[in-house]
Amino acid sequence: MGMLNKAGIRTVELLAPRLSQHRRERLAKLFVSMSRPVAEQQPYTCPLCGYSGLFDPIFGSNALRFDAECPSCQSRERHRFIKLWLVSEAPEEGLGSFLHFAPEPSLEREIRSRCMEYRTADITPGRADLVLNMESIDLPDASVDTIMANHVLEHVDDRKALPELFRILRPGGLALLTTPVTHAWQHSYEDPSITTPEARHRHFGQADHVVFFGSDIDDRIRAAGFDLEKAVADGAQAAKYGLIRGDTIYLARRPAA
Ligand SMILES: [Zn+2]
Repeated sequence: MGMLNKAGIRTVELLAPRLSQHRRERLAKLFVSMSRPVAEQQPYTCPLCGYSGLFDPIFGSNALRFDAECPSCQSRERHRFIKLWLVSEAPEEGLGSFLHFAPEPSLEREIRSRCMEYRTADITPGRADLVLNMESIDLPDASVDTIMANHVLEHVDDRKALPELFRILRPGGLALLTTPVTHAWQHSYEDPSITTPEARHRHFGQADHVVFFGSDIDDRIRAAGFDLEKAVADGAQAAKYGLIRGDTIYLARRPAA
């Protein structure tokens, strides 16, 4: 085993610097897929694109996730769960004017067909229709019906961002929020002295994450004024669509009056 490890490490040392990050990931995913027991290689269904077959692994921020990515539309677990939520729970009257932060292409078509106006936003110029900083959103009060932000809150100061989302939503409007959460933690893990990309990766799971949320994320959302409901991925959905068991969509609604 030791010899095998040494040889493996040497191969990686020789090979890795010559390959692009993308190719390295492709190669690693191939090895991961091939090394799984055959009985574990089971087909899943993608509710977004209709693909049925094996899904690809992903090197997530704090774990390797098998069956995470649809090879056809590149949807991940949370995107497939959102599609299922849209189909079963989205309001019949539609989603009105929709603002999608850090937009994922795999979800765009689904949302467009359900809203009156679809706009995308990102803090990096060129990535979306609007350049917006979630901590200080350059949009008028009560100007948006529905907001979606998947895995954005862990990149920003949520104590600034959540009140901003509340402010731009019309009364009765809804923000659909997802973020990595360690549900067994009562308190979120944050430390403003941790600022380098390497330390943030180690502590918060990614070089540009500033927090790892615990179950107190509920209180933090409510503290901005929202009424909070949650949609939670169940076991049957996980088994059929390759979702994360217990994956949660935070449904933060600005009270109607
Ligand atoms: Zn798909």
